[in-house]
Amino acid sequence: LKPIYINNYDYQKTVPFKAFCDLLDKVTTDTKHTVKKKHLSVFFNHFKEADQNYFQLIRLLLPHLDKERQTYGLKEKTLAKFYVEILNIANNSIDASRLINYRKPISNDIGGDFGTAVYLSLRNRCITKGCLSMADINLSLDQLNSTFDRKEKVRILKRILRFSTAQEQKWYVRIILKDLKTGLSEKSVLNFYHPDAMSHFNISSNLRTVCENLKPLIGTNQTGAANSGGRSIYDIEIKLFQPLKPMLANRQPINSVFSIMEGGQVVVETKYDGERIQIHRDGDTIKYFSRNSNDSTYIYGNMFNSVVKECVIPEKCIIDGELLVWDSIAQKFEDFGKLKTLALGGNGDSGDPLGANFGKQLCFIAFDVIYVKDQSVMELPLSQRYFLLKRCVNQKAKSFEISEHKPCSSTADLVNYLDVAIMNRDEGIMVKNLNTCYVPGERKDKWIKIKPEYIDGVGDDLDLVIIGGYYGSGVGRRGGTISHFLLGVPFIPDDIDFEDFNQNQSSTNNIQFFSFCKVGAGYTDQELQGLQKLLEPHWREYKTSNAPKLIQLAEPFKERPDVWIDPKVSVVLQIKAAQIVPSEKYRVGYTLRFPRVVKIRDDKSWGDALDFDGAIVMAQEFEGR
Ligand code: ATP
Repeated sequence: LKPIYINNYDYQKTVPFKAFCDLLDKVTTDTKHTVKKKHLSVFFNHFKEADQNYFQLIRLLLPHLDKERQTYGLKEKTLAKFYVEILNIANNSIDASRLINYRKPISNDIGGDFGTAVYLSLRNRCITKGCLSMADINLSLDQLNSTFDRKEKVRILKRILRFSTAQEQKWYVRIILKDLKTGLSEKSVLNFYHPDAMSHFNISSNLRTVCENLKPLIGTNQTGAANSGGRSIYDIEIKLFQPLKPMLANRQPINSVFSIMEGGQVVVETKYDGERIQIHRDGDTIKYFSRNSNDSTYIYGNMFNSVVKECVIPEKCIIDGELLVWDSIAQKFEDFGKLKTLALGGNGDSGDPLGANFGKQLCFIAFDVIYVKDQSVMELPLSQRYFLLKRCVNQKAKSFEISEHKPCSSTADLVNYLDVAIMNRDEGIMVKNLNTCYVPGERKDKWIKIKPEYIDGVGDDLDLVIIGGYYGSGVGRRGGTISHFLLGVPFIPDDIDFEDFNQNQSSTNNIQFFSFCKVGAGYTDQELQGLQKLLEPHWREYKTSNAPKLIQLAEPFKERPDVWIDPKVSVVLQIKAAQIVPSEKYRVGYTLRFPRVVKIRDDKSWGDALDFDGAIVMAQEFEGR
């Protein structure tokens, strides 16, 4: 048997695929990082003698980063069917079942890994000495990637199968599935290749460019800085339509933010829950790249290009931000997940008023600028980039906006911003140091994300009853509904017989409900709609002049709901909160910080919920911590 494609390929000398598979096996088996690296070293040195085309090696080592072969249209299920069909494996045999149900363990095998299933099911069916080269594999992958024709895909896979061993098949399918499971991260591989490789990749998102620009340092004992003349990340050229890895935010406790940012000037932004998108523009050509540097232009281009042309002033630029769906009827951003449906489903302002997209539009919230008029601006501090961003964008409300920088000088400010964010049903807040540069792919403390769930909670969840409601800001069909709730606890006077009270929960005679907190987050839109439907018939307008005795607010009406409800026909919500803090706004004298609904407790009534005494005990315990 001779290598099959070798003469067609773009390089002459090459390395047996078997040697590469042996490397992957060793790297996977040895858990120590230094040993893994040693295996890589030996292999790279051999490779160097046989071949200089490192891109062809690196793309097989990091298949998930290979943007030139984005997708093969082959998932485990299709591959399993293919093996069963081509190898004529009996459908009811263990080998077929292992492939088709690869997630389930069969006899003593550990289930879950398709590569292993392929190896076990094929080991008695494949040749024992393969003859494929790495070039053969790369060529077959190029061919798989370039055809949509199922028959053609089967033909390519069949040819590789004919000339490979079960071990090679195991690694071949893992490459196709873009998950090698070797325990080597992309950072380790790229750092091993060259100390500057990761930074280069963060700027270009392109393995070919990285390999062409940097020669590997393996065995040279040189440091990256020495080899590259001490080049900083900002010396690497940025090109339009070559996506950069977006700068990321670290997660830190709210109390540590100011000490971590070391006296830097700090601003807070809303943390939007959409899709991170980098917009590249060169005149009329506009592209959209996802957080993972995938080209999403086919999704958003049609609907959003005209907005970009209208709102982005420079002909050439790269702008970073979050893409969301704005619902003009409910007057709010939609939950994440509706973006692609809207973008691919057609424009929301024309068409059927009862259609799912009616009144919805894409809205980009820009928060950074990376490149303007042939120049990178990453090295400028955020304060200057933000200034520049404002000059680059003609804002258009709910279509193309700039994220607001809110001044912040203390932890108390942060707590207040987070409070407001949660009430607005945002995910949390972003804290940014105005003095820092843009660093692609970096997740350090220049940007910090804070979400309520990062904060140590009160401990137990609290079951609280809804006693009031607040209208949302929307208008029309979906707006104007109750979207936030006032929660309370029953105050049970001493003279009530507890036995009797417990048996008679449907009555609220002589019992008052003290306001405790307001909640507006934690439930999905669907859950909220369910609650609204349930409570709708029972709401009564809250009038200060005729305040219900049943519902006790703090004097003089510090936190007043728009409507109130008799708790015996109301609903209990299970609430998670970060803190219990003293408050004059609520009748209990305490309130919850960052409350979120964990569950709607259909199984509980107000008598099963936390009462006033219980709330006070919890508050005192919390204060004493
Ligand atoms: P990460 O993106 O940090 O890996 P993740 O995908 O789990 O983490 P989150 O932890 O929820 O996302 O938050 C980070 C993301 O928040 C950013 O990648 C970005 O898409 C988004 N984001 C929303 N608002 C902002 C903002 N104002 N500034 C920066 N990023 C923002």
